Amino acid sequence: MDPAVRKLAALPAGAPVLVTGGAGFIGSHLTAALLRRGHPVHVLDDLSTGSLDNIAPLRQLPGFRLTVGSAADPEIAAACVADAAAVFHLAGMVGVRLLAATPVVVMERNLRCTDVMLRVCAEAARPTLITSSSEVYGHGPVPFRESDPVRPGVPDGLRGGYACAKAMGEWLAMAHAHEHRLPVVVARLFNTVGPRQPGDAGMVLPRFVAQAVRGEPITVYGDGSQTRCFAHVEEVAVALIDLLANPAAHGAICNVGSDREVSVLALANLVRDVAGSRSPVELVPFAEVFPRGFGDPPRRVPCLSRLRALTGRAPERPIGEIVRELVVAARQELALPV
Ligand code: UDP
Repeated sequence: MDPAVRKLAALPAGAPVLVTGGAGFIGSHLTAALLRRGHPVHVLDDLSTGSLDNIAPLRQLPGFRLTVGSAADPEIAAACVADAAAVFHLAGMVGVRLLAATPVVVMERNLRCTDVMLRVCAEAARPTLITSSSEVYGHGPVPFRESDPVRPGVPDGLRGGYACAKAMGEWLAMAHAHEHRLPVVVARLFNTVGPRQPGDAGMVLPRFVAQAVRGEPITVYGDGSQTRCFAHVEEVAVALIDLLANPAAHGAICNVGSDREVSVLALANLVRDVAGSRSPVELVPFAEVFPRGFGDPPRRVPCLSRLRALTGRAPERPIGEIVRELVVAARQELALPV
């Protein structure tokens, strides 16, 4: 990458920051972490999948500002970017449920948001982090390295369309870095979990926790031998801040997640044990939950060497600890004894 890309100081103390998607699950934790570090934070969110509940405790804090609007609207985006010293672009539609139900909207909106934000950030020359997804690795061999080719699969498998839109966003980011010297970092997010993650988007851990606490069957898709690595959202937020703050990361793509692999069946049993639940663990064939050709990656493990080299650390909170935290929160929500 052109060394000129790296010259801007990325995140000076107290600098105002824009977080698109800041009312979402990861965005709201990132916003909280930035406010804690003394950055005024402007959240741009259209509240389509994010919610005011996620940011309710933050709205009273000095330095917090909210604009309800779309990051895909060039005028709104430009106005928000103008006031910010750096930008975290998280706005987007995620989750297998949305993708299976409305793949066109998901692909178009994700690509358009990223396209608009990158153009506006390049024009304003703001250090920018965009969030991509481990989905770009498809079903390739693990561990996934940033230097691997992307493998979104075949176009009649709907899931690959999400991966393609994310990958195209990455290419655009690198193109802006090359052509407009945009100081941009691409964070490829792996499975991220923690408080406030909604289960209705289809994500596995909030679903398992809710099922276990309510005594309902824990629905393991397939035979449960597929694996994932789960990172706590607070550690992910720190990684995103550390990456954008480091000019050496600009122009780079970087995996962000945990590398502690667990099978989905083992996760179901762990949740059941931690919750002291009698829920049966039920195997549900993929064909009953996903459209034909949707596909479910058999293993997903990031290589975190680059993240460690750029930030000096990587998410490491053990899954047992994370599950305990989420079980307590779910019990409180249902007013059950914790
Ligand atoms: N999964 C499951 N039961 C559920 C929801 C998800 O077994 O109720 C599985 C899913 O098939 C996948 C893993 O859990 O293998 C993680 O799913 P999630 O949607 O959380 O994230 P993904 O890694 O698929 O993006």
